[in-house]
Amino acid sequence: MGGFDGKNFIGGEWRPAASGRRFEQRNPAFLHEVTGTFADSGAADVDAAVAAAHAAFPGWRALSPLKRKAYLDRTLQAMIARRDEIAAVITRENGKALREARGEVDSAIKEMDYQIAEGVRLCGQTVPVEVEGTLAYSTREALGPVALVTPWNFPFNVPCRKATPALMGGNTVVLKPASLTPRTGLLFTELLAASGLPPGVINCVTGGGGTVGTALVGDARIKAISFTGSTPVGKSIQLAAARNLTATQLELGGKNPAIVLPDADLDLAVAEIVKGAFACSGQWCTSTSRVIVLEETAGELTERLVAAARAIAVRDGATEDCGMGPVCGAKQKVDILDYVAKGRAEGARLLTGGGALAGEDYDHGCFVAPTVFDRVTPEMTIAREEIFGPVLVIMTVRTFEEAVDVANGVAYGLSSSIFTNDLKRALTYMERAEVGLAHVNLMSALKEPQLPFGGVKESGAGLPEAGSSGIEFFTHHKVCYVKYR
Ligand code: NAP
Repeated sequence: MGGFDGKNFIGGEWRPAASGRRFEQRNPAFLHEVTGTFADSGAADVDAAVAAAHAAFPGWRALSPLKRKAYLDRTLQAMIARRDEIAAVITRENGKALREARGEVDSAIKEMDYQIAEGVRLCGQTVPVEVEGTLAYSTREALGPVALVTPWNFPFNVPCRKATPALMGGNTVVLKPASLTPRTGLLFTELLAASGLPPGVINCVTGGGGTVGTALVGDARIKAISFTGSTPVGKSIQLAAARNLTATQLELGGKNPAIVLPDADLDLAVAEIVKGAFACSGQWCTSTSRVIVLEETAGELTERLVAAARAIAVRDGATEDCGMGPVCGAKQKVDILDYVAKGRAEGARLLTGGGALAGEDYDHGCFVAPTVFDRVTPEMTIAREEIFGPVLVIMTVRTFEEAVDVANGVAYGLSSSIFTNDLKRALTYMERAEVGLAHVNLMSALKEPQLPFGGVKESGAGLPEAGSSGIEFFTHHKVCYVKYR
């Protein structure tokens, strides 16, 4: 694979950056292994991609959603057929275990399938009105060229989750994938292009967020921006979008709690928390990063979480028995270890992990040991900020009320869990949790494509993705009044 090395996809053609510049990326398990060189694009490339999307829009919008479906169905079939190959590309770029990468492709397949079906039901409303002899109805209309700016942690699924409703809604797309995982974004683009989409309907421009991303989100021809990434970048996009009144959908960071009450099934709680905290090396926006436990259960739960963290086999994600792969890149490793140092300096107790792994299998990659802290208090940095790595903090509280206050006492509001068999407390927490997704006896990262996905507070703004709101974001309602008598 590599037909698109050094190239963008613009107006139906693979072409290098106007400047001819490229940047290199490496496998996070073996930093000496170059995974490819990619177009280091600039404003001229963004301009060309937006112009192509703009030119393709009238033709694509005019197609019936049923005709648009035929293209996306072909991409869906190609994704199913090439699932293992796509997963291998994800693992090589992102580092996650192959099992997790296959899970990512499987979830993209389900999301695309669901959003194609949503897209053929582009239903409006017919409502009686007061004016005699008048038919009033609404239709759902495409917005125009849209920008998708995506992160490296789900380099295939997030572009797919955004592009499918955007295209089914009749919009044309410019995708800007994360610079740590450009190949996966280009591969997704190739899968769409291979369906025979007319030139300009899908475009992909690689390059830095500060150059390509900024130029794209500030372009007045772009009618909607769907962004997934960090909160500070999300806020800067919201500001840029305001200048052109561009619609935004912002899916941002999280600091997701798991409350464990004394009556909980501890086997279940430990299994779900460990999966939620360490899958994909803790680099899910919905990763469980805070355990909030009542005093009477804290000792046993802590012991079991530490034992489970120690048992995780950390290795190259491409090995079939990998329990947890490397983190995604050298900077990510340094940032995570900085948080560990802050945790120790501020008085938390490190129970396991806390460092980079050393030895033959690890020295060339970005491996961080699964890490657990206890004696963590709400004002500590590691209790408040998103670490985005395999670091779990345990906080002990005295009452259910205090647990809810601590869970809600952060700036983020993405996802959360409570483990209990007490229906009253479970439902009270569902009522009071300040999040977009709340779970009882399930890990914080669980989501299904039939339901919306998004956060509140500093975790997101605008209509959520997925479910019925996926397509809702990418269309506007046109209301028509027709006097026939
Ligand atoms: P990031 O640094 O914010 O980058 C996300 C995307 O934005 C990348 O494509 C990046 O390009 C681009 N970008 C950077 N600066 C930009 C700018 N000034 N203008 C426009 N685009 C810009 O986030 P990340 O490190 O890739 O991803 C991790 C974050 O994503 C975490 O906070 C995580 O919680 C969040 N996330 C949220 C969700 C959710 O659904 N809520 C899902 C997944 C991840 P470059 O790569 O070239 O810098």
